[in-house]
Amino acid sequence: MNIESPSPIAWRFSERAGQLQSSFIREILKITQQPQIISFAGGLPSPATFPVDAMKAAFDKVLSTAGKTALQYGPTDGYPPLRQWIAEMLSKDGATIVPEQVLMVSGSQQALDLLGKVLIDEGSRVLVETPSYLGALQAFSVYRPEFKSVLTDDHGLVPSSIAAVAEGARLLYALPNFQNPTGRTLSTARRVELVETCAGLGLPLIEDDPYGALSYKGDPLPKMVAMNPAGVIYMGSFSKVLTPGIRLGYVVAPLPLARCLERAKQAADLHTAQLTQMVVHEVIKDGFLDHHIPTIRELYGNQCQVMLDAMAEHFPASATWTRPEGGMFIWATLPPHIDAMELLDAAIKENVAFVPGAPFYANAPETNTLRLSFVTVPPERIRHGIAVLGKLIAARM
Ligand code: PMP
Repeated sequence: MNIESPSPIAWRFSERAGQLQSSFIREILKITQQPQIISFAGGLPSPATFPVDAMKAAFDKVLSTAGKTALQYGPTDGYPPLRQWIAEMLSKDGATIVPEQVLMVSGSQQALDLLGKVLIDEGSRVLVETPSYLGALQAFSVYRPEFKSVLTDDHGLVPSSIAAVAEGARLLYALPNFQNPTGRTLSTARRVELVETCAGLGLPLIEDDPYGALSYKGDPLPKMVAMNPAGVIYMGSFSKVLTPGIRLGYVVAPLPLARCLERAKQAADLHTAQLTQMVVHEVIKDGFLDHHIPTIRELYGNQCQVMLDAMAEHFPASATWTRPEGGMFIWATLPPHIDAMELLDAAIKENVAFVPGAPFYANAPETNTLRLSFVTVPPERIRHGIAVLGKLIAARM
């Protein structure tokens, strides 16, 4: 067919489409993927930790023993044995979680979108930490909430600051373990206080926990969902403990919400790939993660220490930074007059990149902050990159 004189389409995007922002980090990543750049910008896990052989063997086994099922459509809520595994894993922490509460999703990022879809109306109040995960701000923004920031300090979110902003709030979104972007961990006492505060207010609490297993020092702290399964929505992910490319995560919700999320998921994409769910179950069902996760902790823990040591050597005394006990990020606060965006421009010219902190704030950004990831950069390059940043910061003092 040859259309003679097509009229140009005057695209009329929905008002919602106007809320879709491109993640600043994803934009930076385009620049920083050049090999000469020492990038502390990415939130990517280290490919050195990807269990390629185990995945390959599991794909082979699943396809040869249950290929027809693996390649068929599957249930919206997920592959039953995997949901069972997740429910049992979370029940070890002292809670009773049943498989019916578990919804498998295509990366936990999808859970953020689904939660936004079913819990947020235009103008609904949504409480977030200061700062918070950019991807969550982005996902919720589409549903046009009114974000209210809850205070955080060195021990994470400050529960006593919730009441002042809680009126009419639909949810509080919290990252208790090795938070993205700050690397901070919420103390056990704070977790108890947070769960009690939210329960007292009848406020749903989202516990987003993709990094919880990556603790370098000591055992992970108790999960909040175990303290109050009726009021806490838990989100987990296989991205940081296996591989992000398979896009597999889960959300664990009180039953009425779980069914509502399931309907939203059905409308969005019917279900998460059956093949990858079966493969992941095959990989993890006999304890693979028990020996795999310690290797990730060791690699990240060592690189984190290299970065902390280099910062102590090269950053000025007036800068402060977090000392993460797990996860992937360090958060630095520079003297107030230093603009991290301007610093990034200068750093890129010297082949070093990081993420300025401002985009992680829902309200009132602190422009003198930055997020540094240490997981994909080898120690020698970490030392060099931090020395370069230290010099650039010193030149602005
Ligand atoms: N939550 C947080 C805090 C994250 O850092 C990420 C990934 N960067 C996600 C959710 C989404 O992870 P995924 O979709 O890969 O499970």
